[in-house]
Parts: sequence; structure tokens; C-alpha cells
Amino acid sequence: AKDSHNTIKKEFSGFVNVRGAREHNLKNIDLTIPRDALVVFTGVSGSGKSSLAFGTLYAEAQRRYLESVSPYVRRLFHQMAVPEVGSIEGLPPAVALQQQRGTPTTRSSVGSVTTLSNLVRMMYSRAGDYPPGQSIIYAEAFSPNTPEGACPTCHGLGRTYEVTEQSMVPDDSLTIRERAIAAWPTAWGGQNQRDILVTLGYDVDRPWRELPQKDRDWILFTDEQPVVPVYPGYTPEQTQLALKRKEEPSYMGTFSSARRYVFHTFANTNSQQMKKRVMQYMLSTDCPNCQGKRLRPESLAVKFAGYDITELSRLPLKQIANTLQPYAEGTALDRAQRNVAHPEQAIVAQRIAEDLIARIKVLLDLGLGYLSPERSTPTLSPGELQRLRLATQLYSHLFGVVYVLDEPSAGLHPSDTLALLTALEGLKKAGNSLFVVEHNLDVVRHADWLVDVGPEAGEKGGEILYSGPPEGLQQVTTSQTASYLFNNSKVHPHTPRTPAGWLRLSGITRHNLKNLDTEFPLGAFTTVTGVSGSGKSSLVSQVLVELVAEQLGQALPTEEEEGEALERAAPVPSGGHITAGMESIKRLVRVDQKAIGRTPRSNMATYTGLFDHVRKLFANTKMAKARKYDAGRFSFNVAKGRCENCHGEGSVMVELLFLPSVYAPCPVCHGARYNAKTLEVTYRDKNIADVLGMTVDTAWEFFEEEPLVHRALTVLREVGLGYLRLGQPATELSGGEAQRIKLATELQRAQRGNTLYILDEPTTGLHPADVEKLMVQLDNLVEAGNTVIVVEHTMRVVAGSDWVIDIGPGAGEEGGKIIAAGTPARVSESRESKTAPFLKRFFR
Ligand code: ADP
Ligand code: ADP
Ligand code: ZN
Ligand code: ZN
Repeated sequence: AKDSHNTIKKEFSGFVNVRGAREHNLKNIDLTIPRDALVVFTGVSGSGKSSLAFGTLYAEAQRRYLESVSPYVRRLFHQMAVPEVGSIEGLPPAVALQQQRGTPTTRSSVGSVTTLSNLVRMMYSRAGDYPPGQSIIYAEAFSPNTPEGACPTCHGLGRTYEVTEQSMVPDDSLTIRERAIAAWPTAWGGQNQRDILVTLGYDVDRPWRELPQKDRDWILFTDEQPVVPVYPGYTPEQTQLALKRKEEPSYMGTFSSARRYVFHTFANTNSQQMKKRVMQYMLSTDCPNCQGKRLRPESLAVKFAGYDITELSRLPLKQIANTLQPYAEGTALDRAQRNVAHPEQAIVAQRIAEDLIARIKVLLDLGLGYLSPERSTPTLSPGELQRLRLATQLYSHLFGVVYVLDEPSAGLHPSDTLALLTALEGLKKAGNSLFVVEHNLDVVRHADWLVDVGPEAGEKGGEILYSGPPEGLQQVTTSQTASYLFNNSKVHPHTPRTPAGWLRLSGITRHNLKNLDTEFPLGAFTTVTGVSGSGKSSLVSQVLVELVAEQLGQALPTEEEEGEALERAAPVPSGGHITAGMESIKRLVRVDQKAIGRTPRSNMATYTGLFDHVRKLFANTKMAKARKYDAGRFSFNVAKGRCENCHGEGSVMVELLFLPSVYAPCPVCHGARYNAKTLEVTYRDKNIADVLGMTVDTAWEFFEEEPLVHRALTVLREVGLGYLRLGQPATELSGGEAQRIKLATELQRAQRGNTLYILDEPTTGLHPADVEKLMVQLDNLVEAGNTVIVVEHTMRVVAGSDWVIDIGPGAGEEGGKIIAAGTPARVSESRESKTAPFLKRFFR
């Protein structure tokens, strides 16, 4: 065995040696992995793959890099904690392409992330067609984010905003006192404006519509800001009297018309919530000067291939490449004549077109040809964004670095996986190392080296089960990965259910879906498939969700960040309605991978409601009763019970000169979060902090006799989260963990049926063994009389569903049609479907 190990080792040029890795759940592990190779990390969710690849290897590479730069530069980095590891030798500098869960914070577009935009601007500046007499303008003048480029009317936003009497006074039968001017601030701010109007002599007790138009216009639109004495609490009569007597006012108030207030808030507030509130009262239209193209007229006058730069940036990448092809080849007809006069311009055009096509080709190879450069990144899925960054790396020509990637296959249809492998191969050939966390077995099979972490999650994981070429894993009996990798037939025979009815949709229009009709079986489990960009999310996560929510009168959960996206985007044309089936849907639930909370104050125990029961148990103990502690006392969010030094956070921020601040355990409660008095209360010898420190598995045994708590814990175990600690902060949980907590919260509710569950790629981040657990839970939901609709790429899941809707055939304009719909076996027979060949494996 030793000999074969040595021959294996000779194939690689060098190795990274890790000694004593202890980050998170890692059990003091030693590991040797090759450089200049594709190394894939596998293992069930929570086993420790990310702790090893990102938390240890990448963190250490970054730490070393940062040591070499000045403290000033260091501050600019979002620094990771120093990893818990003995030593690492032979580690090259690293670039992480980690998936961002949730919405990216910075505003950017496909063109800017890939740097294509810079090149396109250069092309317009240096090789564009200028109108006669216009002199050449710099590349910056083609960016709406520069003063040289921005349209002067809309300042580069592309949209202009106005307010009208109707938009700000939705109900004109109300009086000003009854808040007729809805656009004014709520609470004190609004009262203040009202009191100012009283001082100014306006009638605030007459219905708005009965006030003279002149007064209404002044109140809503004036730019004047009179400062007047205010007598809050006085009636209008008392106020007038007080004025006459020159009585000392409570304060001097400044008037602000509703329009002034709305625009001022919109332009100046830092709060997305405020911004969103005032946006309700604004009407927005495409800017009349630039028609929403955001650039000044001189810039838009420059054309290339007949397009202005905005028009070009709105085309899908694939079409841009086709458009540029003749210019790269020097065969473009519109150029022939001018080329004779300006040969230097022809050369520039050819060079830039060639370069652009080469870069776009990489994006096409990664299955992203349907995106347009103008598309904003917050509208992309995390998988799409990661592949964009990967493509950018592919043509940045770095070598000698390790790329650390997090499930690059996420969101990819199996027919696109080969392209991904080719891209990874390209990086490797250029002399780089690839460390990839991945669950997709097609990618795992292509690894040069496999590191399997396990055997289970959390404390029961964190060990290296195997490290070596993939074939060798077959011998490792403790590995859950091995049984899926080498035993493909492991899929349970499944007889599709007969639908209880149909949810029918008609005339669906959104993005690439054009007047589509479709139907989803009720009381069944449906998977929606198709290549990336075919229209699955537009159909399921957008149109279906919106239409059902509207019919149920259920508000859509809105994102805090949405304000900014709304501000820029023109409303998407959309259409469609539900024609049948709503009578059996009473509730809509989306189970996504977004975090269950944004602060360390939320955790699994609080989110699921489990902690409420636990706190009651503590409040019911003899000691708590004697001391008159109620359930609130046992919350670390409530002042009475929590540690005052850290306000219940368990940690405190330490400011370091010249270095990013770090969190350290609270010196008073040592991370317990509670004050000493609260901790004196015990329930069966454990205090409340001890309980939060328990894993679900431990707590499940501990609370065996408490049915409410026990039931919640049972469901959490069933979805595979037995390893998590009850108090683990929401911010430390992965997307997959967050999703399963949401699912568990649903499952522990009394099963009422008639709920529509919608999930978008729920298997992202899940090992095949976890996927199986997820399937069981989804099945339970359907058995209880609910409907489940899932967007999915994992064929194992598709094969196990009751009904498949395959969208395609391609992406973007080449997609958006229903190619096949039926039972999985039926769809696997389709000749047109790109999904069919991959589904077929399960029906032989
Ligand atoms: P995987 O990548 O295999 O899903 P992780 O490396 O993310 O697993 O997690 C391994 C273990 O470490 C899990 O028990 C997880 O809950 C825990 N963990 C992950 N991140 C943190 C963190 N920031 N702090 C403490 N524990 C963590
Ligand atoms: P899938 O879910 O199958 O990957 P999508 O529904 O996300 O496909 O995309 C279908 C088409 O709609 C693609 O051409 C995509 O570029 C376009 N699209 C999706 N979301 C947006 C958006 N927010 N703005 C503009 N175009 C979009
Ligand atoms: Zn404009
Ligand atoms: Zn404390």
C-alpha cells in the first residue's frame, strides 16, 4: 500500500501539508493534498468541509497575504479570523469564490463584475461611429456613473420621479388631522406639520377635497419653508388666540411641503425602510431626456454596429458575440469604406472585438450566454454570480494560486456540468490549484484528488475519512459519499401520485416567458427543470408566487434591500392569471435558503418557537416562582435576565488600532449571555445557558418528557440537524441549514394541509445523503394534503417526484417554453427535452 501511495504522489508537482486543524468541529486533523490539481472536498452537510477549505486553508492563505501588506491596506479587507491550525506548509496564495447567500451589498452589473463594460466603453470611445462634427469622447463618458457620462436630467438613474396630489393624498375624503396627506411622516413628524398648518391658519378639520385648490397646492408642493410658533395640544381657536397674545410657543417649527419631504427623504435617508415608504408616494417614469438609457445625448449619439452603448449592453452576451464577430474578422460591411480612410480605427475595432469575443466565449462556455451586461447582480442567483466570477478569473491569467470554490455546480443543469469541468480544467492547466467543495457526483468523479470529511455532521464529523484519488474511496466503509459515488442505482422506486386537482395558470408573461399556459398538480410533488436561464425561477419563484399570494391576499415577504433595486429598475412587463385550482390552496409558504436572522440574537431555538416552551419550563421551576421570574427573564434579549456587560450578545467588540475590530467572549458572563442571578435557576440541574449550549440530539434526550419541546426537536433531528446547538447564532448557519430549520418549523405545525410550498433549488449545499432526508420531509408534506413545487437540477430528486415540468429548450430567448410535462418516466422519454437524457438513467 505504501508503494502505491508513493506512485500516486509522483503524479503531482507538490503538496500542501496541514497539521493539527481544529477550526469549528475539525478534530485536530492532519492532511496532505496536491497542488496544481482539482481537489474536491465531500461530506454530509455540517461535516466540516467549509471549515477545512474556507475556514482553514483559505483563511490561512489570506492571513499570510495580509501580513505582508501595510496595516492600512489590511483594514480594507474583510478579514477572516485566524484559523485554528498547527501549521500549513506549501500553501500558495488563494482566491476564494465563495457563494454569497442573500443579496450582495454592492450595486454592480454583469458587465462590471466581468470587466466587459470597460472594454465596451473603450470600443465606443475609440472605434465607434460618431455623428459628423462630433469629436471623440473619453471612455468614461460612456458610463452613467461618472459626471462626464450621466444624463443631466436624471443624473444617470434612467428614471425621473414626480409626485402628484393623488399619489400623496390617496383618500381625499379625510381631513388633514385624519392624515389625508399620507406622504407626510408618521407619528411626531406628521403632527408637527399639522400643528404648523394650524398656526398658518389652514383648516385641518375639513375634508381635503373641500379645501381650496390654491391651499392644497401650497401645502403639497411649495418650496417655501416658513418657520412659525407651534402650540401643540391647542385647538385651532386656542392657537389663533395664543398668536394674537404673542404667547410663548412650545417651539418654533419649520414647514416642509409633502413634495419637499418626499424628495428630501428619498435623496438623503440611509434607511431602506424610509426610502421604501416615501417611494410609495412617487410616480416614476423613464427619463424623457435619455429614455431610460442613463447617458447624456452626446454619448448615446455614438453607435457601434448600429447600436448605442446602452442598446448593446441590453443584448444577451451570446448575441453581442455574434454581432461583434464580423468586426473581429474584419468583414463588417459598414466598416469597409471608413476603414480605407481610418485604418488605425479599423485595427482598434478589430482588436477590441476579438478580445471581447474571447472573454464572452468563456461566459458562454459556462452556460451564461443568456445574461446581458446591463443585468444587475442582485437579480442573479448565487450560482450564476459565482460562475461569472469564475469566468473573470479564467481570463485574468493568474497562475500559481489556489482557487477555493463553494459548490460551483449550484444552479447548473446536468447538461452544463461538462462546460464547468472544462473551465476548471482551464484554470488548472494555467498552473493553478483548485480546492472545491462539491456535492454534484459528476464533478466529484472528475476530481484528481478527493477529501471526504465525516462521518457525520457537527461533533460527529470533523474527521478525514479519506484523502486520495477518487477510486480509493470505494474501500472506505464509513463514508456516506462512497455509497452514492459507486452505487448509482440507489434510487427508490416511486409510483407517482394521482393529482387531487390542478392549479391552472394562463397568459404568463415575465422575462422570457411569453403568454405561457401551464398547470401544476395539486396534492402532489412537482419538480420544474430546465437549463440555467430557461425561465424556471421566473415561472415558479416569481409569477406563481405573486399570483397565488395576490389571490390569498397574503403580503409578499419583502426584502430590505429591495428599495435600491426598485429605484433603478423599470417595472418588468408581466402578466398572467390563475384560472382554476385556488379553492384548495389556503396558504403559501416559500422555503428558501436565506438566513433565518441577520444578527447573532436569532438562532434556531428562537426561530422555531422551541425556546418559548423552554423558557416557560424555567419560569415554572420552584426557584423562579419564588423569585417571581417570568418567562421573559430567560430571554437574552430582555434587560432583566441578560448580562448587562454584553447586552446578551455573549461577546464584545474589541477595537484595535489599525486593525479590524474583533469579537471576544464577554469577560463578565464568559459567553453565557445571562446575568448570574438568572443562571442560578436550574431545570433538572441545567441552567438556561447550558440548554442553549446543547445540541439538538442532546436536548432531545434531555427533554424527553416535555412533549411540546420534544416534538420540535424530533422534527429538527429528522431534517438532519441533530448536530446543531440550540443557541448557535443565525449568522453562523449555512444556507442549507437555514432552509432545513424553516422546513422543520413548518413540519412541526399542526398538519393542516391545503398549503402550497415553493422551494427554489433546495438541494444546494446538500450531500446526497441529506437530499434523501429532505425528500422524505417533502413527501410528508404532500402526504398531509399539501402541494409542493420545487425548482430542481438534481435528477435523483426529479426522478422521485410525481410530476415534472421541463422548460426550455435553451436559455433566455431560446427558452421559456414548456418542452415536456408529465410523470418523470414520461418526461424521460421526451426527444426535445435536454433533461430527458439525464433522467433516463433512473428508469432503466
Ligand atoms: P460543511 O461545509 O461540511 O457543511 P461546516 O464546515 O460549515 O460544514 O460546519 C462544520 C461544523 O462547524 C458544523 O457543526 C457547523 O455548525 C459548525 N460551524 C460552522 N460555522 C461556524 C462558526 N462560524 N462558528 C461555530 N461553528 C461553526
Ligand atoms: P432559470 O430559473 O431557469 O435559471 P430565470 O427565470 O432566472 O431562469 O431566467 C429566465 C430569463 O429571464 C433569462 O433570460 C434571464 O436572464 C431573464 N431574467 C431573469 N430574472 C431577470 C431580471 N430580474 N431582470 C431581467 N431579466 C431577468
Ligand atoms: Zn436621463
Ligand atoms: Zn456578557
